Amino acid sequence: MNFIETRGNDGQRPAEVSFSEAILSPISSFGGIYSPDSIPELGPAFLSKHLNSSYKVLAKDILSAFNIDIDHDVIDQALNLYDKFDDPNNPVPVIKVSDDLYVSELYHGPTRAFKDMALQPFGLVLSSLAQKRNENYLILAATSGDTGPAALETFKNRSNVQVVCMYPDGGTSDVQRLQMVTEDAANLKVLGVVGDFDDTQSALKRLLGSDEFKQTLKNKNIQLSAANSVNFGRIIFQIIYHVHSYLELVRQNAIEAGEKVYLNVPSGNFGNALGGYYAMKMCLPVEKILIASNNNNILTQFINEGRYDLREMAVTPTTSPAMDILKSSNIERILFDLFGAARTKELMQQLDNEHHYQLTDAELGSIQKIFSADFCNDDEGKRFIKDTFEKGYLMDPHTATCFKAYQTCREKDLKTIVYSTAEWTKFSPVIDNAINGEIDTQDQQALKAIAKTAGIEIPSMIDELFTKKITQQTVIEKDKIEAEILNFI
Ligand SMILES: *Cc1c(COP(=O)(O)O)cnc(C)c1O
Repeated sequence: MNFIETRGNDGQRPAEVSFSEAILSPISSFGGIYSPDSIPELGPAFLSKHLNSSYKVLAKDILSAFNIDIDHDVIDQALNLYDKFDDPNNPVPVIKVSDDLYVSELYHGPTRAFKDMALQPFGLVLSSLAQKRNENYLILAATSGDTGPAALETFKNRSNVQVVCMYPDGGTSDVQRLQMVTEDAANLKVLGVVGDFDDTQSALKRLLGSDEFKQTLKNKNIQLSAANSVNFGRIIFQIIYHVHSYLELVRQNAIEAGEKVYLNVPSGNFGNALGGYYAMKMCLPVEKILIASNNNNILTQFINEGRYDLREMAVTPTTSPAMDILKSSNIERILFDLFGAARTKELMQQLDNEHHYQLTDAELGSIQKIFSADFCNDDEGKRFIKDTFEKGYLMDPHTATCFKAYQTCREKDLKTIVYSTAEWTKFSPVIDNAINGEIDTQDQQALKAIAKTAGIEIPSMIDELFTKKITQQTVIEKDKIEAEILNFI
């Protein structure tokens, strides 16, 4: 299968590229990205075939439907990384929480957030490609908390890849910071940057777009790449768990094969929801995909009104920081799939230049056939955490945003799969506040308090962070980033 450009072709770049090319250089003509030229339709037979398949067997069959140019043994090695998850036989447990509500837990990997689902196999695939082509890559990542640890973990000690990961100093939780600054492989560099996440991300974008910086790297025989969530090499691994979660409901006798469900996704850059959309097109009986946001509710506005309007919005910090996003990059692939490249280019360029666009009524109609949306503020989220905990289920503040959409967006009494994107350990002060009423606790103290109240253990990989040696000490001003990177490589 080939990959084509969401904003059409500029006559200079190739109009179609292979999967490996699309993941090594993810930006296409006119600032667009790559999408598959078609989505394989597998139909209901595919579900029956995999009713009793393991996660890896299912994953292999989904990947092979895309017919990508990655060697089979590399795919096998990449999928074997799911063996490092808590339960190698079932990396994604699905838990019944109440009558219609099931939670699919995507956080059982090494860094305790759902970024591992895609970044674990993606890191191996990218490094294998670099070795095969005898090329060296520098991966730059800017993180507000979850992507950084997952990117460092997947690339550490891998050949032909170096990673520089930047985080806003003081802008992440203690656990997230410790997960980064205790990594000590020679191919990894972690930079604390004085400023907020936007400063860090702008610095990254400037470097990715700088011809001079690229030339300097080229002279050292290094190419620049990014592991951000528009990379299709991440998206492809995010289709699998939607199909797996549905099959889990069938296996648990919650639904019959073929019965429709709601998927309920806490969304930021829309990679998770896009994976659900592709799964629906391929084979899954889905009534609708419910998009949950926090107070940064641009996706609610987009899906309810067809209006994407950044003009009077500014990112506000919430208790679900991984969803504090207004420019949701993967929406572009939905526009492309539904309305084609010419219209996508028009809309995205209007967004770049005028900071807003409006869909036509007909276009909005096609969006609303597939998606519904609502947002959940921090107080509502806290109440969902508390109420749900009292019913016996502990969840993080990102997952909690789904409970609002669950209440307001369902038109039918169908079983609903809520995706849990982080373990409680990653956002413990908020949870300690929700269930114990404590205010402003530090992570270590909050973890202990929750473990005590809930009668559970702190997972060892989190507990160990507080005594591990800090190996990455660098904290710099943003104008020193480039020099620091050049010094590292
Ligand atoms: C990244 C992340 C999200 C948002 O996922 P998208 O695929 O960007 O929509 C939600 N929750 C957590 C905990 C995350 O780390």
